[in-house]
Amino acid sequence: MNRVRLIIFNAAIGPLDYKVPDGMTVEHGSIVVAPLGPRQIIGIVWEEDRLPEESVPDSRLRNIIEVLPVPPLKGELRRLMEWTADYYCARLISVARMVVSSGGALRGPITMTEYRLTGTEPERMTPQRAVALDALQNEQATIRELAELASVSDGVLRGLVNHGALEPVEVDIDRPYPRTNADHDQPKLSDDQKKVADRFVDAVKAREFAPFLLDGVTGSGKTEVYFEPVAAALRDNRQVLVLLPEIALTEAFLRRFEDRFGAAPVVWHSGQKATERRRAWRAIASGKAQVVVGARSALFLPYANLGLIVVDEAHEISFKQDDGVRYNARDVAVMRARFEKFPIILASATPALESLQMAESGIYERVELPSRFGGATLPSIATINLTENPPERGRWIAPELVEALKDRLEKGEQSLLFLNRRGYAPLTLCRNCGFRFQCNNCSAWLVEHRFSRRLACHHCGHEEEPPETCPECGEPDCLVACGPGVERIADEVAEILPDARIAVATSDTLNTPEKAADFVAQAEVKAIDVIVGTQLVTKGFHFPELTLVGVIDADLGLEGGDLRAAERTYQQVAQVAGRAGRGSKPGEVFIQTRHPTEPVIAALEAGDRDAFYTAETEARRSAGAPPFGRWAAIIVSSEDEAEAKEAARAIGGTRPNIQDVMILGPAPAPMALLRGRYRYRLLINARRSAQVQDIIRNWLDGLDFPRGVRVSVDVDPYSFV
Ligand code: ADP
Ligand code: ZN
Repeated sequence: MNRVRLIIFNAAIGPLDYKVPDGMTVEHGSIVVAPLGPRQIIGIVWEEDRLPEESVPDSRLRNIIEVLPVPPLKGELRRLMEWTADYYCARLISVARMVVSSGGALRGPITMTEYRLTGTEPERMTPQRAVALDALQNEQATIRELAELASVSDGVLRGLVNHGALEPVEVDIDRPYPRTNADHDQPKLSDDQKKVADRFVDAVKAREFAPFLLDGVTGSGKTEVYFEPVAAALRDNRQVLVLLPEIALTEAFLRRFEDRFGAAPVVWHSGQKATERRRAWRAIASGKAQVVVGARSALFLPYANLGLIVVDEAHEISFKQDDGVRYNARDVAVMRARFEKFPIILASATPALESLQMAESGIYERVELPSRFGGATLPSIATINLTENPPERGRWIAPELVEALKDRLEKGEQSLLFLNRRGYAPLTLCRNCGFRFQCNNCSAWLVEHRFSRRLACHHCGHEEEPPETCPECGEPDCLVACGPGVERIADEVAEILPDARIAVATSDTLNTPEKAADFVAQAEVKAIDVIVGTQLVTKGFHFPELTLVGVIDADLGLEGGDLRAAERTYQQVAQVAGRAGRGSKPGEVFIQTRHPTEPVIAALEAGDRDAFYTAETEARRSAGAPPFGRWAAIIVSSEDEAEAKEAARAIGGTRPNIQDVMILGPAPAPMALLRGRYRYRLLINARRSAQVQDIIRNWLDGLDFPRGVRVSVDVDPYSFV
């Protein structure tokens, strides 16, 4: 190739053509540096015919400056990137940013100097030198690290270098990851488990696209089972990606992984330091990272030879990204498996309706684990009607659940109370004048956090100290907390059970992997009697001594008017119920509700998953909702309210008139103000077969907006705020 077309890392500029100077070789997917005006930019060499652009004559082309020392992005990955941009109405370059997500990695290997013994003795031996020589047998590290190891000063070691007893070695600063061993500690699978595992292993060996829905009840051993195809891929020298919904979960997972495979996997998530990302990215791109465990952003990395993806807790909504490229990692993962021809396993005890529908129609192969491992039984579930048997005044835990908590504490068993609300109280108001504390940047109440003595907005992160007096009427000591959050439930438990050891488990309290690991360790050694937690505790955790689960307010999720409210309530409650009775003792679950006859609550009580899914499927079908119809949203926002409204009106005014495509709005979004931006929404509802993306692109392409207006498209939206 002597001329190339690049997509470039600047969202404002489209593809550009360059000349390849003599002696330089590039291929499609190469990541290069090119001149742009007086500056240098990074670009990716792309197929010219896939990025139609007017051709620039050869004579006007500038030379590419340099090919960066990383492997070119593979064709299959480039097709996935195009598909993602196309499907989610995003820019290709925005998708490319998720692929090339470590700037540091692009610079290629960076070396540093380590030292090791040469075997030569220094001419003059001192006691300190003798100590060092003794301590540093078979060690190789920096002077600083060696000095620490040998408990001598840096100076002693420098002396040894000068005498030829220590020699320098240039090493890559990105150390290799420890190797995993597919056969390190293989469990003995039950017959049911073995059947499923064998099916997966065959699929890995076949090296063909094969999407599976692993539908197994909580505690059935889904992890143990999908570890088998992971092992099969390892034996075949292919890479594996395991996507998890939450970093808080990874710590427990990593330990399990290490027990099974003898070494930890490579971890990837957005909270990592730049140096860790660089090391992981390079290992992934070179094929040296064998198994990667990560959050959704791990999906777009340039794996050298991926052979399997597992999406664990595949129903979780955290796989959906709600800013930038608004993609659903679960769905894109299936596409990746298809482009690169390998199996993908979506594992869940409460699959998304969309996934079940794909299995129904034969597109996914459904494999089931219908019973818990080791003879553990599923917990018994009962509802507590809060209207008939309410808690005492000012309390939130009904008498029946209080009795059950006392009983567990006496028996030395653990309990878990679930309420999907962080903080102490969701609303604070003035007793005197009724003033409510609201966020200045968002249409949201400020949530009281009593541990940290803060009023906080859960949408933009704004925090303030609770004032002594009401900001409206000036009355002192007049603020009252309305409604419960987990902290308030924890206080109540402390009053009911003064001797109980209580832990609050939320993203506030378990905000680092270390804290999460500590929490799991404490719970496992029974140093915690009662866990009070948010959705964070609904998944993944396995505490054998936990025998009681109480759902404080099952109606909470149903109030939002969200399309998937019933499904999400079902999933959350079923998942949290699934934490009970995973060991030898049976579990018991109480669901507090004001609406015990709501179909979703009734189905939970009856343990009748099929009844729920059947009813919900019918409801979706008749509403033309996913998976039978499609939704897409257009969100218009600006810091200027009038400008946002005007732009939304302009979009509404040019709506296309297409049969079977319904366009609702524009209307103020439920979160009409978010992070200081005023928001309007339009909703598009169409048949499954409609080309919604094309419709939206054609519609918006002709429109121009002021600079401050942001228009974003959300295809298959999850959040309706
Ligand atoms: P799930 O993900 O389906 O909820 P897990 O994979 O967490 O289930 O398994 C539940 C528990 O049972 C875990 O502690 C796991 O180690 C154990 N377990 C499952 N299968 C086996 C097996 N074949 N041998 C030993 N322990 C198993
Ligand atoms: Zn806010």
